[in-house]
Amino acid sequence: MGKYDRYFLMSAEDAKHYCVDVLHFFDSADCLEASEIGDGNINYVFRVRSREDGRSVIVKQADTLLRSSGRPLDQNRNNIEAKILRFEGKYAPQFVPKVYYHDETMATTSMEDVSAYKNLRKELMEGRVYPHLAENISEFLALSLLPSTDLVLDKFEKKKLMGEFINPELCDITENLVLTDPYNDMRGKNRITPGNEGFVDTFLYRDEQLHCQVGMLRERFMNYAQAMIHGDLHSGSIFANEDGIKVLDPEFAFYGPMGYDIGNVIGNLFFAWANKVYTQSKNEEVRLSLEACVRDLCDLTLSKLRKKYDESVTHPLYRVEAFRERYLQDIMADSYGYAGTEMIRRVVGASKVMEVTSVTDPALKIPMERALIKMGIYLIKHRGQIRGGSEVVDQFKGILAQ
Ligand code: ADP
Ligand code: MG
Repeated sequence: MGKYDRYFLMSAEDAKHYCVDVLHFFDSADCLEASEIGDGNINYVFRVRSREDGRSVIVKQADTLLRSSGRPLDQNRNNIEAKILRFEGKYAPQFVPKVYYHDETMATTSMEDVSAYKNLRKELMEGRVYPHLAENISEFLALSLLPSTDLVLDKFEKKKLMGEFINPELCDITENLVLTDPYNDMRGKNRITPGNEGFVDTFLYRDEQLHCQVGMLRERFMNYAQAMIHGDLHSGSIFANEDGIKVLDPEFAFYGPMGYDIGNVIGNLFFAWANKVYTQSKNEEVRLSLEACVRDLCDLTLSKLRKKYDESVTHPLYRVEAFRERYLQDIMADSYGYAGTEMIRRVVGASKVMEVTSVTDPALKIPMERALIKMGIYLIKHRGQIRGGSEVVDQFKGILAQ
């Protein structure tokens, strides 16, 4: 039996040999250097590079256990990641790393090294708001999402894919962490900033109208198999530089509402924006560019989806303009709603973001968190009536000014 015929969790040293023996990416392990660069809390990511010619490759491995907590987690997530990366690679190749090889036994996906691009969450924190961001992210969304719907894809092919992309364990994480805990702390996992307990109790735990709306979004997340979505499209899954963006880490992918992806990106931009407002109030330039980015992302996503729709949808009923507009409007309403649930869950839930945690002065942190929660609630409750990006940014500016 060969070394890689049975699963084992690799070390960086193993990864070097794997790249030679299995990937045949290098001739010998002698001049290779390897390190584990994973900063997520789920998997292991090895970067293997030749000292001779500088070529490099990424090997991402999914262990049987969740890296952070050590609890078991289905390794099928790695199959799903490889499959959707290939799907996105077909429809939006400029925005994802190329998959070189997927190994079901070793639960690895080996792919292009896109280290020239940097974690967008960190870039935004550093104040680097690339002017192309809204354009590129919206382009990625329109190109990667619409082709997997059955408005475009052959209906038999779509149903086959839906089956392959059933992802119960990773969806369960979202259903609990994002779409339940923040509204009742049923599992006792929320972490509320001291001083905000009463606010959270009143506005999140006791508002039945809000619970109804979040319930609708949760039910839709679980049952509306509209498109193959990334499922975890926060700003730490997007990498960027002057040239463009790369989207990584789609292991939460499944057939769900595309607004979940769109909303996730929108929601995460608010963290950067709020952080700058509260920590660099004099830095108007970065604030204005984040504001423009949110506004343009909302509007460009809609216009690009419409363009893609016109190019690729052929069924006569779906060609009716009123249908198209209704369909697009529903996507945007979902997007605003899920932007809201993302904003709320990162403030009160167990999994936080650095834009919020890095602010430690209670005099800033308390009002910043409240502003994010208020905006989240607004987006959830008004998601069906919001007319566009300007309305979204004006609303947040209004909340910030209170
Ligand atoms: P996890 O599933 O554990 O969250 P990620 O896919 O987010 O893992 O990867 C963790 C980190 O590894 C990323 O934040 C990034 O820094 C690095 N990484 C992952 N894939 C690549 C890649 N193709 N090229 C360069 N760096 C990568
Ligand atoms: Mg990740």
